[in-house]
Amino acid sequence: ASDANQKIDYVFKVVLIGDSAVGKSQILARFARDEFSLDSKATIGVEFQTRTLVIQHKSVKAQIWDTAGQERYRAVTSAYYRGAVGAMLVYDITKRQTFDHIPRWLEELRGHADKNIVIILIGNKSDLEDQRAVPTEDAKEFAQKEGLFFLETSALQATNVETAFLTVLTEIFNIVN
Ligand code: GDP
Ligand code: MG
Repeated sequence: ASDANQKIDYVFKVVLIGDSAVGKSQILARFARDEFSLDSKATIGVEFQTRTLVIQHKSVKAQIWDTAGQERYRAVTSAYYRGAVGAMLVYDITKRQTFDHIPRWLEELRGHADKNIVIILIGNKSDLEDQRAVPTEDAKEFAQKEGLFFLETSALQATNVETAFLTVLTEIFNIVN
């Protein structure tokens, strides 16, 4: 539905970061359009999508930014992070390396973003339990140590995607209210 005539109380910019192929674009597609594609192409060009939702009787427009195939270290520019009030740090539970790179992404995020940014760590592809390479406990412990929210999601099965966005957006909402 169009929100052309809808009064918007807040616009929150949230950035997706993490290694290539962890599922960032599909998490966004699931949240913004309730779609999923198994042969999703690498994102080209800086892109964001929006979805307006209601939090505590206010309309909140979530503006979610997706990296444009700039997932190499230090290739994401400061413009991407500018004005972001939330971040989703995504790894793939079946690829240990994508989790091992999380501290690097966190460092980059903290170097560029506002110090009050709300961050959630996301272990995506939870539907591939038989290929799991990152124990839930490891990620939970890391998140706790770094003061991040944490959830495992499946963009494929639509598990926890809505909850992940709502967690970040509600926390941001509570900070500004
Ligand atoms: P990005 O590079 O981080 O944006 O990753 P994409 O969103 O393009 O996804 C990379 C690949 O992983 C694609 O083939 C997706 O279909 C697949 N994928 C994304 N999310 C999931 C998921 O939750 N489960 C499974 N099984 N595959 C996924
Ligand atoms: Mg992508």
